[in-house]
Amino acid sequence: MKLILEIEGSNPYDKAIISRMKRKIFFRLCLTMLMPLALFSCTQKDSNPNITKGDQPRVVATSTIIADLAQNVAGDEIQLRGILKPGTDPHVYEPVPADSKVLEEADLILYNGYNLEPGLIKLMNASGGKARKIPVGETVKSLQLDKGKQEVVPDPHVWGSAENAIAMTNAIRDALIDLSPEDRDQFTQKASQLNNELKQLHSWINQQIQTIPENKRKLVTTHDAFQYYGRAYGIAIAGTLIGISTEEQPSAQTVQRLVESIKKIGVPAIFSETTINPALIKTVAEEAGVELARNQLYSDSIGAKGSNGDSYIKMMEANTRSIVQALGGKYTPFQLKK
Ligand SMILES: [Zn+2]
Repeated sequence: MKLILEIEGSNPYDKAIISRMKRKIFFRLCLTMLMPLALFSCTQKDSNPNITKGDQPRVVATSTIIADLAQNVAGDEIQLRGILKPGTDPHVYEPVPADSKVLEEADLILYNGYNLEPGLIKLMNASGGKARKIPVGETVKSLQLDKGKQEVVPDPHVWGSAENAIAMTNAIRDALIDLSPEDRDQFTQKASQLNNELKQLHSWINQQIQTIPENKRKLVTTHDAFQYYGRAYGIAIAGTLIGISTEEQPSAQTVQRLVESIKKIGVPAIFSETTINPALIKTVAEEAGVELARNQLYSDSIGAKGSNGDSYIKMMEANTRSIVQALGGKYTPFQLKK
């Protein structure tokens, strides 16, 4: 200020410069004075998370399967954002900056857990935000798979049994009721309707798998995502190209071993999956001299909108149809009784 006063009064060009400097200083002062007010109003909004009037609670689901179940239970009472898109592989998904914003702004995060989506779980734990985090898949007791080298890990693909999807639906219902107690009746009613459909789906899949000749009830898939399905519906997992995570790359020996074992067990077809590049499993099928089933299995994601697997129920139905038809069973379409 002193400097400005001293040079004031010289030529008109200087005067113009000085006047611009004064204006700048004035604006800076204003900003400094207004900033705390602006911050204060942001803090006010953040400290009142759920629900400023007219706003709905924000729920984020990581996997497409959980997003579908949650949408069924929640109806229109919440704003639901699914992070993973149909067809995306959750094991190797690398989060983008927008995901971090979505997680930070959430009031409730529903994720699978058992390390299905390691990138997103890491980001979720690192991000600030006030959301309750519910590992929906972990409400089901996991199968422990031996990865060799004395390492045992929980298998995250729990939705493979429709009975497990009922447990997941109940966990979602309870989390939503905690978030928005005034919608308890609606969530309870919608969850019970979905569970009724899942029960019917469960017994339908059981009947369908039983139509496959017993010596052909064997499943060979790209990655090890069908253990729960296999145990629930009585079909053996006879081989997989890769383990329960898709991060690993199969070695030449693994590929050769799988080819040999397919020849030995005598299955008519093996399966590729929608979330994994089918090139290698195609080679395995060719070398083993078996068919690669025409329809890919939906493994870790529901299908794109408009596909025959664009909901959890439809994905299970489509998978069962592919398996039954490729392994010589007799398929009858699933029909819901209301
Ligand atoms: Zn998987």
